[in-house]
Amino acid sequence: MKKYLHPILIFAIFETVAVTLWLTKGNIFYLFNFSYIGCSIALGIFLYIRKYKHARRVVQLLVGLYMLVYLGFIKGENMQIEGFWYYLFTGVFEAATIHYAVAKIFGPLIFGRGWCGYACWTAMVLDFLPYKIPKAPRKKKLGVLRYVTFAASLAFVAALFLAHVGNIERIMFWAFIIGNAVYYAAGIILAFVFKDNRAFCKYLCPITVFLKPMSYFSLFRVKCDHEKCVSCGKCKRVCPMNVDVTDNSRRRENGTECILCMECVKNCPKKAL
Ligand code: SF4
Ligand code: SF4
Ligand code: SF4
Repeated sequence: MKKYLHPILIFAIFETVAVTLWLTKGNIFYLFNFSYIGCSIALGIFLYIRKYKHARRVVQLLVGLYMLVYLGFIKGENMQIEGFWYYLFTGVFEAATIHYAVAKIFGPLIFGRGWCGYACWTAMVLDFLPYKIPKAPRKKKLGVLRYVTFAASLAFVAALFLAHVGNIERIMFWAFIIGNAVYYAAGIILAFVFKDNRAFCKYLCPITVFLKPMSYFSLFRVKCDHEKCVSCGKCKRVCPMNVDVTDNSRRRENGTECILCMECVKNCPKKAL
């Protein structure tokens, strides 16, 4: 039973958030929403412990499809960064703002970039592409593009408010559809150009402007036992995000890029991670 402590703990954390938001906001949707996400993640960790090869992909599909199809397309919630700005400007602490607070701003202090490994609906599709292990070195300078897309998303929503455009809700719905189409197209093109499924995450994704600094302080981290490590370098070779996981310091190379996918752990021949 002890080995299932992690999924139980994760489920308990999500259930606490679910019940707290349900009672404080008086909306049963929060109970359903966070219970579903907590169950999906706990199931994924359970499957991982049981050594099921596709455990992470199961969670990615359960959470990613729920957010994209149910919350986005059916319920009309813009959960992309434009939706976050929109609700922030209107002062409404609802779906998108809560989602960002939990998954992308404060949550990473606990679970780092777990969102990127287990829930993001953009990466859910990109991870099906053929370059799971990057075939070329990282282009560090291109990372500056994330600030451009971040500023563009903010400027777009600010312009709608400053121009007093009517029916912004409708515009935000279409912004979600078009924004996702653009992200998928850009993500797929970048993956093939750089021979790296996660090139979009590394260079263009605006959400990393929140995720990277917060995940620097993450409680959950993969650490290396130097007594066991034989410096074979396999962990770095299989890492989709080019993290030097053998360095235990917070300043490890690409440390704020770790998506907790556990590929390094699975592939370490000495069980040093
Ligand atoms: S970096 Fe962006 S696109 Fe990539 S997984 Fe994270 S949130 Fe999704
Ligand atoms: S794969 Fe394991 S043994 Fe090899 S360098 Fe990484 S941590 Fe060390
Ligand atoms: S392979 Fe290891 S270091 Fe790289 S992203 Fe996955 S968990 Fe993090």
